[in-house]
Amino acid sequence: MMRKTKILCTLGPATESPEALARLITAGADMFRLNMSHGSHQWVRTVCQRIREAAESLRRDVAVLMDLTGPSIRTGDLAEAWQLTPGDTVELRTDETVPAITPLSTTVNYAGITKDIKAGDSIAIDGGMILLRTTEVSDKRILATVVNGGEMKSRRHINLPGVAVNLPPLTRKDYLDLDLGVELGVDFFALSFAREPAHIQHVQLLLEQRNSKARVIAKIENQQALNNLDALVEASGGIMVARGDLGSECPIEDLPIIQRRIVERCSWHGRKVIVATQMLESMIENPVPTRAEVTDIFNAVIEQVDCVMLSGETSVGKYPDKCVEVLDRVIRRIEESYPSGRFASDAPLKTNKHKTVKAAIVLANSIPGSKLMVFTLRGVMAHLLAHQRPESAPIFAFTPKLHVSRTLCMARGVHPFVMEFIKGSPDTNIRAALDLLRERGLVQKGDPIVILSDALHDEMTVEAILLREA
Ligand code: PGA
Ligand code: MN
Repeated sequence: MMRKTKILCTLGPATESPEALARLITAGADMFRLNMSHGSHQWVRTVCQRIREAAESLRRDVAVLMDLTGPSIRTGDLAEAWQLTPGDTVELRTDETVPAITPLSTTVNYAGITKDIKAGDSIAIDGGMILLRTTEVSDKRILATVVNGGEMKSRRHINLPGVAVNLPPLTRKDYLDLDLGVELGVDFFALSFAREPAHIQHVQLLLEQRNSKARVIAKIENQQALNNLDALVEASGGIMVARGDLGSECPIEDLPIIQRRIVERCSWHGRKVIVATQMLESMIENPVPTRAEVTDIFNAVIEQVDCVMLSGETSVGKYPDKCVEVLDRVIRRIEESYPSGRFASDAPLKTNKHKTVKAAIVLANSIPGSKLMVFTLRGVMAHLLAHQRPESAPIFAFTPKLHVSRTLCMARGVHPFVMEFIKGSPDTNIRAALDLLRERGLVQKGDPIVILSDALHDEMTVEAILLREA
């Protein structure tokens, strides 16, 4: 069986070479993430070029996602690391010219923090490794008591659990990064700390103004985003369940429930969903996963998410291609055992297109061993097919447009191919597509093929479902 759940790998020093990229693609990577929190523009250019070359030489379509950092709150520079013990008082100043009133005093890069936070609120530093409780807030200063201590270095990431922050959606750097991404033709932009649908619409507008067809993924990272979940899902091309920051911003016991809720809302609205962070964390150091990690993968696959993501595992880890091999093996095993997963999509069948797609899926589900094939100009029919989650049948999507084919790399169960359509000759196109699939060993002679199309005719769109043998 072909794997349905897609694999997204974050790139970094461990995987930047052409050879390492080729190994990841061979092991099964479907998409690559360029995390703009690290790496220079020159690095991004070089790596992007290498991805395209590696994919081409392996005859595989892979998509590139540029992850915009968004505004992140950080502590200031320290002369040397602090050793914090519970009960210590820490001072955060929004203006370095304000005099320190305690020895443990540093700055914070977001001046508005004193307006958003109040006494009693928690401040989580470094992914929650250090926890402070706010005791006093004035115009340019916050005093807080250490609850969980530990070592604190310079420029640490701050999370404010449950606090609604008034940061803008993008920083100056994000605008420059976005321009670079457009120039390089990346296929997806992810927006970190998306909190409101307007943030996504803003990025979408910037892309339209720059003639980019890239899709925008909202990273759900805090409570504020969860409060706007449905609107965010609707406004975006897809959602990333950013479990790293969510785990610091929300009670950790809520995390699996939050993941399930996000997946359900994405399924309802027919949007992509990526599960991210710590899928194989232990494999940064070790060649084998923990039992708990394998079971976490099981959960995401049963939830029928589109994509699972690796972060440090592939960017800085010791065993990047082993991680992809493990994901590939575990996912296949689960999908074989539970072909229909836990939830079939309950998305409402809004348009005639939705209903036609549903009919094709019902047909494919009822014919053992069948495969779905879709001809699509803009990708709409192929994305709809993926969202309605056919059971066993893989979806072979043919499109004349490279950017359409690449955005389909994220869609669950879709295998995209670029192919010129011969106008007015549906049968020629079908035969050419079947030849290609047979040649690559993806279908066998006689396999039942359910064909869906609105793109086979020249003059008009005719939605059609056909049943053929390969
Ligand atoms: P990050 O996002 O890796 O960019 O922080 C994902 C997460 O928070 O889980
Ligand atoms: Mn994050």
